[in-house]
Amino acid sequence: MTTAPSLAPGDTIGILGSGQLGRMLAMAAARLGIRCIIYAPESGPACDVAADTIIAAYEDEAALADFAARVRRVTYEFENVPAATAAFLASRLPVHPNPKALAQTQDRATEKTFLNGIGIPTAPFAEVNDVASLTSALKTLGYPAVLKTRRFGYDGKGQVMVKEGMDLAQAFAAVGSVPCVLEGFVPFLREVSVVGARAETGAFAAFDVCENVHENHILARTVVPAAMGEETATKALEMASRIARALDYVGVISVEMFLVGSGEDEHLVVNEIAPRVHNSGHWTLDGAATSQFEQHIRAICGFPLGSTRRHGRVVMQNLIGDDIHSWRELMAERGACLHLYGKHEARPGRKMGHVTRIFPE
Ligand code: AMP
Repeated sequence: MTTAPSLAPGDTIGILGSGQLGRMLAMAAARLGIRCIIYAPESGPACDVAADTIIAAYEDEAALADFAARVRRVTYEFENVPAATAAFLASRLPVHPNPKALAQTQDRATEKTFLNGIGIPTAPFAEVNDVASLTSALKTLGYPAVLKTRRFGYDGKGQVMVKEGMDLAQAFAAVGSVPCVLEGFVPFLREVSVVGARAETGAFAAFDVCENVHENHILARTVVPAAMGEETATKALEMASRIARALDYVGVISVEMFLVGSGEDEHLVVNEIAPRVHNSGHWTLDGAATSQFEQHIRAICGFPLGSTRRHGRVVMQNLIGDDIHSWRELMAERGACLHLYGKHEARPGRKMGHVTRIFPE
């Protein structure tokens, strides 16, 4: 990895993607005096708060070259940036996280193989490319099992629970008959995540472990700290640090884990890595000394990482679809910290904003 000279306030960086994560990154950057140019195929919530926007396809090399010439670092707010786009930009200027880390986390099979290779447990898994390999994978992994597309899955999309007696051809068709992994079912008690940042110097700073509650496969609430043993929490942070180091990572990384067993038997199984800021870290905007967004900007600009100190027990609630209509009551609620993403249409399942509440410990 090239270690380029650190940036200074007044410099400009580029963000690939125009969603709410890009918006919150651009707002955090502005606070540090850093300007952002958003590059995306379509306009979105990030464009309203950035210095400039380039609307072009990820394959448009002329537009990418123009973007690269106008910024000093490139980062992204979503992990499905085409590998060729990241490589094209990385040949011109530093791209954080690096394209190799991006590639390793874009594919569930590659990601799990990488994790197991550095001694981090995942669900047992097998690659599935057709109904025959699904049938043989089920013989090893047993029922129930979770069939997931290798790429482009999010919020429960591109996955199906395979139960005994199910028509396997139908299950494979349900995920689009594309390359998949089959995962053994993990009987978890809770879902947790670690959001941490690695600097160019190799320094690593993580926020406390978050506990995540999903509804309809979408994150509904994050509670910090997660209910788990202290030793297990330390292990969770150590795992995230080990992953970031092994990927030669710069920026915020998020690691989703399953908490399994209790007491002596309590342990962690990594579900997936998000090579970016994460919804389960939104609480840090109001509940920590430095937000995950500011931390990411600090890391990619070569600035010192900020303190991850928490201000209390924190509960972050996503506002999904019609939840947004209670914005007026939430604004009136004392102590509720409301964040709205400026999206015009409240479709079901669409993340419209979030609200954070902080309680004394
Ligand atoms: P993912 O898209 O991998 O984040 O999975 C979405 C959700 O499905 C997770 O948040 C879990 O609730 C559930 N899930 C995924 N994989 C497994 C597994 N191997 N065992 C049990 N539940 C799972």
